[in-house]
Parts: sequence; C-alpha cells; structure tokens
Amino acid sequence: MPVSSAHTRLVALLGDPVGHSLSPAFQNAAFRAADLDAVYLALRCDAARFPGLMHGIAAAGGAGNVTIPHKEAAAALVQRPSAAVQRTGACNTFWHEAGALHGDNTDVAGAAAALCALLGGPVTGLRVLLLGAGGAARAALCALLDQQAAEVAICNRSVHRAAELAERFADPHTRVHAVRTRGDLRGTQWGCVVNATSVGLRPGDPLPLSDEAEVRADAALDLVYTPQETEWVRRLRARGVPAADGLEMLLQQGAAAFGRWWDRPAPLAAMRAALPARA
Ligand code: NAP
Repeated sequence: MPVSSAHTRLVALLGDPVGHSLSPAFQNAAFRAADLDAVYLALRCDAARFPGLMHGIAAAGGAGNVTIPHKEAAAALVQRPSAAVQRTGACNTFWHEAGALHGDNTDVAGAAAALCALLGGPVTGLRVLLLGAGGAARAALCALLDQQAAEVAICNRSVHRAAELAERFADPHTRVHAVRTRGDLRGTQWGCVVNATSVGLRPGDPLPLSDEAEVRADAALDLVYTPQETEWVRRLRARGVPAADGLEMLLQQGAAAFGRWWDRPAPLAAMRAALPARA
C-alpha cells in the first residue's frame, strides 16, 4: 500500500498536548499490517477549534481519537454515543457512520483488558482500591463494575470527587464507596490496587501509594505510562507484587478503537511491536 493516495483515510488524534503520544506509532503500524490506505496523525488543537476539527474530519470520511482536555466535549458533540460514553461522560474515539457522528470510550475496554492481562482473568469477586476520581478512574470503575469486583474503594485527593463517583456508580453487585482519609487505608489488604491519578507521570513525582502506607496488594495496575515503567510499578515488582503500567491499557484502547473505525479485529501483534518494550 502506498504511504498515501487520493483515497487515503485520515485518522487523527485531537488533544492538547499530543506530542508525547504513542498512538501514531502503533496505529500506523496497524494500518500497514492490515494493508489499509490510511494515515494516523496527532493534531494539537484548542477547545475553540476542537468541534470543527472533529466534525470536519468525520464528514470527510475520517475518524479519530480524542485525548485531554477534549474527551468530555467530544461526548457532548457525538450524535450516537456508545453505552461507555453515556456511562463515563467521555468520548475518546469517533467515526462517521450512516450519516451520523458516532462516539465510543474505548478506555473502558482498554482498562478491562489490562486488568485481565495482569490478573490472568477478570477481577470478579476481588476487593479493589481505586486511586483517583478523574476520567481514567471513571473508565476503570466501569471496567471493575462490568467484571463484578466485590468491592471498589475510591481514594482521591479531593475526597468530594471520590464520594460523587461512588454515588453516581452505585451498583447492585459491587460495594462502591469513597475512602475518607489516607489514614483509613493503613493496614488494609486488597486483591488489586489501580492508580488512576496522574501521580507518577512526571519525573520526581511521589509514589501514588507510598510503601509507608502499609497497604497490602496482591496485584497493582498503574494507568500511568512513561518511557520506562513507572517507579511505583518498578518498586512493587521488586517486592514480588505482580504489577503493570498503563501501556497495555493504551494498546487495548487503541485496538478497540481500530475495531470501531474498520469493523474488523486489530492486528494486535503489529501494534504491540511498535510500543516501547516492557519486561
Ligand atoms: P484527570 O481527569 O485530570 O484526573 C486526574 C486525577 O489525578 C484526579 O483524581 C486528581 O485528583 C489526581 N491527581 C492529580 N494530581 C495529583 C496529586 N499531586 N496528588 C494526588 N492526586 C492527584 O486525568 P485522567 O484523564 O483521569 O488521567 C489520569 C492518568 O491516567 C494520567 O496519567 C493519564 O495519562 C492516565 N491515562 C492512561 C490511559 C491509558 O490508556 N493507559 C488512559 C487514560 C488516562 P483531584 O480530583 O484531587 O484533582
């Protein structure tokens, strides 16, 4: 397939910033592996330009992803929101189909697949500590509820946001509740801890959950990803705790997005090969 032709489909990542994104590398690898006449570009855009750009790309037969800070705006703009968009209030994938702008939030599928990869199966019946109450936490919470965790305790810097999330996602199968203070976590034991805060993203950040907090975890998933595996994941693994960073979730949300755009399974091996290596 030529690099581009008069028929090339544009698939774009819209956000600000986008310069750090790994999506162009693994999506273009996927397009090549699937022999598709398409190109994936990262386009930095502000809030004022975002709606026009998303509508324009879709109207021209294109598709795309949406990242910070436009996921909520995208959810409000799409005409056919998926169930995941309606539950989370966020949209990270869009495409044009049957005359309408469709949207999905494949972060939910990405989180679900990353949990399964880490644990060797779903979190069904496990007690889970979820750190954070932003967009990534909402996607992870949906995945945890779909897989019927026994309990999800939400711990966030701004406690009222954790409480709002627990109330909004009250569930008949899973006990969802907010943790009032970090002190309440002392001496607790969890089947899995999920970091959905942005702590760990920047060099020199503290750990999302310090060793001194005496929280015991059988496994840990960090949604943060950095060029090397995060310091939290590195320390946990050194202590023998199964742990993974956010790279698998990133890959899996991308594979799910590929499925929406092309209506066929993603070439996962080719996409994985385009990512930084992990142990
Ligand atoms: P967000 O909506 O801005 O939420 C940020 C969260 O981090 C909030 O809960 C916030 O707490 C907390 N936080 C920020 N700074 C903190 C600090 N210094 N101490 C304690 N808590 C702090 O962001 P998001 O979209 O949820 O993204 C969160 C992380 O997940 C980012 O690192 C992002 O890259 C990652 N992510 C990964 C994937 C993937 O595919 N692997 C997908 C989506 C997101 P407050 O509520 O108190 O502000």
